[in-house]
Amino acid sequence: MTMPEDIAAEGQDMEQIRQAVRALCADFPGKYWRQKDRDREYPTEFVTALTKSGFLAALIPEEYGGSGLGVTHAGAILEEIQKSGCNGGACHAQMYIMGTILRHGSPEQKARWLPKIASGELRLQAFAVTEPTSGTDTLSLSTTAERDGDHYVVNGQKVWTSRAEHSDLMLLLARTMPKDKVEKRTDGLSVFVVDMRKALGNGLTIRPIRAMINHSTTEVFFDNMKVPAENLIGQEGKGFRCIIDGMNAERILIAHECIGDGRWFIKKATDYANERVVFGRPIGQNQGIQFPIARAYAAIEAADLMVKKAAAMFDAGQPCGPEANMAKMIGSEAAWQAAEACMQTHGGFAFAEEYDIERKFRETRLYQIAPISTNLILAYIAEHVLGLPRSY
Ligand SMILES: Cc1cc2nc3c(=O)[nH]c(=O)nc-3n(C[C@H](O)[C@H](O)[C@H](O)COP(=O)(O)OP(=O)(O)OC[C@H]3O[C@@H](n4cnc5c(N)ncnc54)[C@H](O)[C@@H]3O)c2cc1C
Repeated sequence: MTMPEDIAAEGQDMEQIRQAVRALCADFPGKYWRQKDRDREYPTEFVTALTKSGFLAALIPEEYGGSGLGVTHAGAILEEIQKSGCNGGACHAQMYIMGTILRHGSPEQKARWLPKIASGELRLQAFAVTEPTSGTDTLSLSTTAERDGDHYVVNGQKVWTSRAEHSDLMLLLARTMPKDKVEKRTDGLSVFVVDMRKALGNGLTIRPIRAMINHSTTEVFFDNMKVPAENLIGQEGKGFRCIIDGMNAERILIAHECIGDGRWFIKKATDYANERVVFGRPIGQNQGIQFPIARAYAAIEAADLMVKKAAAMFDAGQPCGPEANMAKMIGSEAAWQAAEACMQTHGGFAFAEEYDIERKFRETRLYQIAPISTNLILAYIAEHVLGLPRSY
């Protein structure tokens, strides 16, 4: 198989990357994912294969052992994973969480963590932002980190911290100054790298949440958990800014996953519409079956344009908040449209586990809610792009 490093040297041939991902995914068919889903098991074999192939290190610069590719290429990897019927949600964060260290970490921090993340020796795929009470209102989060000599003491709780049980490190956003003492709303939060191998049982507790999909998501509790001061990323109190550009990368990459999901649903629906004969003819001969699939196809193609635009802007270092958000919103809605069309095309068989549709249907629904819900994207566009009054 062609390795991503080789591909980078060969002029970053996108089609070669896509082919290599498809070849890897062929070893993980629907049967594999059905069992994992049923038993709520982590897809360790799949994640190990992706790690060994180097795909998860696509965004890490070559000097730290990665492939030094952009979001455009990393997105293509995730799109192909989803298009092959696999689920990148188990490990996609290993690709992008490290971006906060890469862009805002000190040279020592980069040298300490990035090569091991690139090789897969260290997993940094837990991102602890959401809290039960503050929800989407990130600036109201209440987990605190208080400086005490050469370390910080963390107290509080996070929810929906995905993959925490399958990660060595966690990127944590915590409050280092009370909300009513900060000059700017976005100040007072700080980002830390938590070494969970040391913290577990020493102030850190992780509890799995059984959810609608197999996403290894958890709630985490901090009870006087100590984090060395050297694990603070960037400036104390300026952490929100450190995670915001990473959030654009996350949204663009997840938008690629939506495009992949959408293409999987459309292929599945089209194949079945051609094969299934009822009333003496293929159901796909009926416009009532054809049109929703065709409409979903058009929506996915249109969303793909926005996703590609957002990725290109991110890779060019241009501000791309509106594009990243629109890509995620339109992508997730187009994927859902395709899911609906696929479900309806399959009739009763869509409910049978062995068709994988009900599983993918549940999985793709997530992306209208996480990592950011559609309403919040609309509010962002209304305020920051259209100049309407802030609504929240
Ligand atoms: C499976 C899963 C995995 C996740 N993984 C992670 C993770 O790894 N790390 C992490 O930090 N978080 C994670 N999340 C959390 C996710 O980012 C949040 O669930 C999401 O951002 C929405 O926040 P909330 O659930 O608190 O909803 P709330 O903020 O309570 O909002 C509920 C609803 O109200 C709407 N709403 C709220 N305020 C407004 C407003 N002003 N105007 C209009 N509508 C509004 C929202 O759009 C939403 O539809 C995950 C969630 C899930 C379900």
